[in-house]
Amino acid sequence: MRDVYDVAIIGMGAVGTATGFLLAEFTNLQSLLFLEKENSAGQIASNRRTNSQTRHPFGGELNYSPEVMKAIKRYSDMIPSYANSEYGREYDILRRTKSGMVLAVGRNERDYLRKKFHDTVKPVFPYAELMEDKEEIAKLEPYIVRGRKRDEEIGIIRLQADMVDFGELATSFQDNASKRQDKKINVKFNTKVKRIENVSEGYDVHTDNAGSFSARYLVVSAGSYTLSFAKQLGLGADFVAFPVAGKFYTSPSIINGKVYTFQEEGVPFAATHADREWDGAVTRYGPTATPTLMFEKDKPDIKEFIDNLDSVLLDTVISKKAIRNIMIKNIAYSLPGVGRHLFWKYEARKIVPSIPYADLKPAPEFGGVRTVGINKRTRELRLGEFTLPEVPKNGVNICANMAPSPGASGCLGIAYKNVHKIASALDLHFDDEKFTKVFGTIPIE
Ligand SMILES: Cc1cc2nc3c(=O)[nH]c(=O)nc-3n(C[C@H](O)[C@H](O)[C@H](O)COP(=O)(O)OP(=O)(O)OC[C@H]3O[C@@H](n4cnc5c(N)ncnc54)[C@H](O)[C@@H]3O)c2cc1C
Repeated sequence: MRDVYDVAIIGMGAVGTATGFLLAEFTNLQSLLFLEKENSAGQIASNRRTNSQTRHPFGGELNYSPEVMKAIKRYSDMIPSYANSEYGREYDILRRTKSGMVLAVGRNERDYLRKKFHDTVKPVFPYAELMEDKEEIAKLEPYIVRGRKRDEEIGIIRLQADMVDFGELATSFQDNASKRQDKKINVKFNTKVKRIENVSEGYDVHTDNAGSFSARYLVVSAGSYTLSFAKQLGLGADFVAFPVAGKFYTSPSIINGKVYTFQEEGVPFAATHADREWDGAVTRYGPTATPTLMFEKDKPDIKEFIDNLDSVLLDTVISKKAIRNIMIKNIAYSLPGVGRHLFWKYEARKIVPSIPYADLKPAPEFGGVRTVGINKRTRELRLGEFTLPEVPKNGVNICANMAPSPGASGCLGIAYKNVHKIASALDLHFDDEKFTKVFGTIPIE
């Protein structure tokens, strides 16, 4: 007889595991199945070698509108609450960096920085500080001032920034869910889901090597593959997946924390930033944003690529000026030989003017793919997280989460919204009081 669960979760990154943890710990759900193709949780986008380890927003994201800044903050503030609670204390999830800032170079950027400081950053981060004195700035990050032309104006917003190991966070969520011995909680690693189908009682999930399972509710948090699974169930026909690779360069460790750079509001990807690596061994510069044929780093998938081909992809990249410019620039940075030189000249030296070319090395051990959804009708890029179906439908017991960026920081918020829908569909009780003890408030939309 087939194994049947209340809920099955495909994908054990930060989003899938956060959903499983909240379900197991804060509802009266009886059975839960996690399915993951890798050999442990948090190995793909949530791995700390893939992403920039930043808990967004910290205030340095000049491309966010005030509304986006506030909305994401509400979710990402759940991470320190969790990390400092009985659930997270045993894990090395969160570290505060010595410095955090966004840097403006030249008069135009500095004027924009001043405006953003007053309009967007200060209202959300009251401790933020605008600084324009090079000597003072050098006390925080000496290398962003050293070697800079005397007449080049700079300004920073001084902030606090956290590093998060989102892979460790995912592992901790899974461990905490699995501790619930009173419930049937099963975890299947090395198990790739091949196909999902709608059946009368819920959903059947077919795997490559562990047979099939049934679930009354299905959560698909499969990163770049979420959209393709959603389409198997007739959802997301309006969207096409746009995989964007993010690569990094490294230098010897010269940055104390996180130095983000100028990016206009509404532009989809953060401009190059310099970050202290988790263990402090190097400084990382990046990530770049280049269209890629791969859905996960170093894992070509011709079938997925062909299935996803759509003229809208090319049309969107070519017709949207901001996207086109970013892509052209970043494709140039990826060119063999010359790419490194261009990145050094136009990106790394903007942050660290004195960095020698020889010190800046491509770092293939870091980086990964964030897959953005493009709405085929409106050509809109869905940069933040979104879940299909976008409007809940009776009898459609699915949450298919797309969380390209900064989905890891928002994982608990996305999970909370998933759990809310699941509890309502399966008639589960959600323990608000227990939840509030850990997270302080309920993250209402
Ligand atoms: C270069 C880069 C920098 C970034 N920097 C930041 C940052 O600083 N801060 C931030 O908050 N976010 C950042 N992000 C975004 C962040 O990494 C993602 O939003 C987040 O990790 C998404 O989590 P997830 O659980 O949705 O996906 P993932 O962590 O990718 O998890 C999806 C899981 O699904 C599994 N899976 C897929 N297909 C199947 C299948 N068929 N069967 C079984 N399992 C399957 C995968 O193996 C994987 O474990 C960055 C991303 C990139 C690429």
